[in-house]
Amino acid sequence: MLDLLITNGKVYLDGVLSEVSVGIKDGKIAVIADRDVQPEAEKMLDLGGKCLIPGAIDTHMHVRDPGHVERGNFYTETLAAAAGGVTTIMEHPISVPPQYNAEILDNRIRRAEEQCVVDFCFYGAMGGEFPEEIVKLAEDGRIVAFKTFLHAAPNGRYDEFKGLTTADDGQLFTVMTELAKTDLFCAFHAEDNDLCNFLTKKCKEEDRVTGRAHAESRPVITEVQSIERVLRFAKETGAKVEIAHVSTPQGMELIKEAKRNGVKVYAETCPHYLFLNEDDLEKYGPFAKCNPPLRPQELVDRLWDYVNDGTVDYIGSDHSPFLLEEKTRGLSDIFAAVSGFPGVDLRLPLMLGAVKAGKLTLQKAIELVCENPAKKFRIFPQKGTIRVGADADLVVFDPEGTMVVDKAKNYSHARDIAVPYDGREISCRLDLVILRGRILMENGVVDENARAYGKLVCPVK
Ligand SMILES: [Zn+2]
Repeated sequence: MLDLLITNGKVYLDGVLSEVSVGIKDGKIAVIADRDVQPEAEKMLDLGGKCLIPGAIDTHMHVRDPGHVERGNFYTETLAAAAGGVTTIMEHPISVPPQYNAEILDNRIRRAEEQCVVDFCFYGAMGGEFPEEIVKLAEDGRIVAFKTFLHAAPNGRYDEFKGLTTADDGQLFTVMTELAKTDLFCAFHAEDNDLCNFLTKKCKEEDRVTGRAHAESRPVITEVQSIERVLRFAKETGAKVEIAHVSTPQGMELIKEAKRNGVKVYAETCPHYLFLNEDDLEKYGPFAKCNPPLRPQELVDRLWDYVNDGTVDYIGSDHSPFLLEEKTRGLSDIFAAVSGFPGVDLRLPLMLGAVKAGKLTLQKAIELVCENPAKKFRIFPQKGTIRVGADADLVVFDPEGTMVVDKAKNYSHARDIAVPYDGREISCRLDLVILRGRILMENGVVDENARAYGKLVCPVK
């Protein structure tokens, strides 16, 4: 007998919505049946014609735990994930210390197991300080990818960036050569550090310190220059790379061209480069400050072309919790604020809302937030799809529904800084989120007893 039978919904199967029933047994999808066939089940769930899609996977999440739990921890930030239909997070390695070896990874996994509400994957830290750890950590088998930054640790944050930075060409060549020996790819934060530092100094000297100055200090060329460099090294060494949070169509064009030439590269972008723009940065100041910065609407419009033409492989939130005072100190000087803001809860609703607005198809949206994250990080078909044998990670949404973003209701510990989308109406509503057969969220309310329900997901060989 099935544990749960979900009926009367439009189920996303192989790119189309089908009127079938989905049966769940022991946390997995056990049967997909015609609607007139009714297998026996302990519980029934009637969707009343709403849509059933795979649970979303967030490829870009920062939790901070351990090291900076005052900003957020594995429990609070995965409550926020569950609220947003995210059933698996991929945690980036900025922590104290970053996980550049198996022992540090052990500790982070233990902390995640004690707290996570949703399933989780880990990136490993890759850097020029410990190149000998790269192959070992890949062979350990528990990380889905690597991450590195193309600059030395920011002032005063060495403990958070130890083993995570690739400071010069020599280091870059060394780590890429090591990476090429593994079957994993590395995500690059691609902004030209020298140029950003130079232009930031210039803005400060000229007393330009409002939100827009942050964008002026990191113009398009800073991203383009850095992406070009990473692609060049990827081509020469054969290493597989991801360009994280691409913010410009110019950067996307380089990646598109590289893909055509056989470079193994994935492109990620984030909702804020598609739904916010440079005017929001001027308006909300530090609360809309992120790296790379928000771009003018003209570039935002063109970025959508690359979402639709297949250049963008997946969309990650770059969810970044911080304390309120770490943001407000930038109200009089944008350069004094930290970069990044929360968003794991809104990625799926925003994309589904964009489907309704005709910006992309439902198939494309599911590909970018569910299927491709699972496929590229090799946790498919356990995750990211509705099929027999997959984990029963499911989201019910009402395409006729709407939601108004209210930061007071945000489950993230960093809800106070979740300003840029606050009050925005989104033309979609998530009704139910299920992870391995268990209901985690119903009508916006997350099951707060689900602490430690989340499990580590490792890539298949
Ligand atoms: Zn990030």
